[in-house]
Amino acid sequence: MDQTRTLICWLLAVGTLCGALRPDACRADEPDSKKLFKVVFQAESKAQITTEARVLIKAQDGGVLIEGRDGRIWGVPPERLKTLEELQPDYEPLTAEELGKSLTEELQANGVPGTFETVTTPHYVIVASTSRVYAEWCGQVLERLLKSFTDFWKQRGLELTEPARPLPVIVLANQQQFANFAKVDGNQLSAKGQGYYSITTNRIVLFDLTTAKGQPVVRSRDDVIKRLRLVSANVATVVHEATHQISFNTGLNRRYADNPSWLTEGLAMYFEASDFLDDDVEIGRVNAVRLKRWRDAQRAKRTKPMLTIIRDNKRLNQADSAIDAYAESWALTHFLLTTRSDEFAGYCRQIADKPLLPWNSPDEHQQEFEAVFGDAGKLDVELRQFLLKLPAK
Ligand SMILES: [Zn+2]
Repeated sequence: MDQTRTLICWLLAVGTLCGALRPDACRADEPDSKKLFKVVFQAESKAQITTEARVLIKAQDGGVLIEGRDGRIWGVPPERLKTLEELQPDYEPLTAEELGKSLTEELQANGVPGTFETVTTPHYVIVASTSRVYAEWCGQVLERLLKSFTDFWKQRGLELTEPARPLPVIVLANQQQFANFAKVDGNQLSAKGQGYYSITTNRIVLFDLTTAKGQPVVRSRDDVIKRLRLVSANVATVVHEATHQISFNTGLNRRYADNPSWLTEGLAMYFEASDFLDDDVEIGRVNAVRLKRWRDAQRAKRTKPMLTIIRDNKRLNQADSAIDAYAESWALTHFLLTTRSDEFAGYCRQIADKPLLPWNSPDEHQQEFEAVFGDAGKLDVELRQFLLKLPAK
């Protein structure tokens, strides 16, 4: 197994900053986003796209950030924008049924073989080229995670919002189908992994983790769980990616706002440590894999001051430092949620209120953090003591 692919998730590498928009788009208005437009533009791939969308941002240079009815966000610079025509009535996200149809058509258009099952739960639309049993199991786990996540924040004084649209999920039959689709979906970096969340399309893409050569097809939920117990690290990836999707759809994070990556990744790793194969899910368990990585790095003197992940995202983005920086992000998140839960919730509330597009400077990121938690240098000392004493279970 390629450990790097398992331990970092490449969320950062796609759909960051202003997408295709130029920096001056970052000084832009957020217009009345209830209006619906027919938008014709040329995509980066040169294909002409016609879509029904709302305008999230109108940049000073005439570029726009638009969101399609399927939740996909496009950054369109002025030279690629052909027409923007207002329609009636107002913008509405696709219904669950429309979304299921749209995802199925996209998979067929991209040559994904087989027949497709659509499973609809209260918050998700799952389109799968795998068995219905597996797709239904995914739906149950995702609903449990969503509930655990919102309850967790409620207990800490943060009322999250219900997702404003059905959340799209694609589950492919095996790793090969997944890898092929990841490439056409613009997520080449995730092709060797077990799943990804795309900020751009707002969906998670997974594959059936119960399929292995020579193994019979799973027939029941119990079969699924038994088989997944053998690959629990891969189940953690599903929870990780699903946590990103939930964070970005319940108001904890905003797509295309400046969410610190140590925080978004730290939270996904905080939740991935819980055992969602167990009926009794316990949130906030120590993430043994990340703690081990932090301790190994500590012994090898590779750990860096927390400001190196707070000021910017470089260490999380670079292949040679990413796994250590991920472990440090988990460590910081676990430490703050254990010792400063109220402040942490307040910090999250502040991040959630940030406007779309403007990206803060490293100094601003540091100020934003230290205004809530105090001097990062002092906190480093406390964090180190905390982690050295933490039982790894
Ligand atoms: Zn991630």
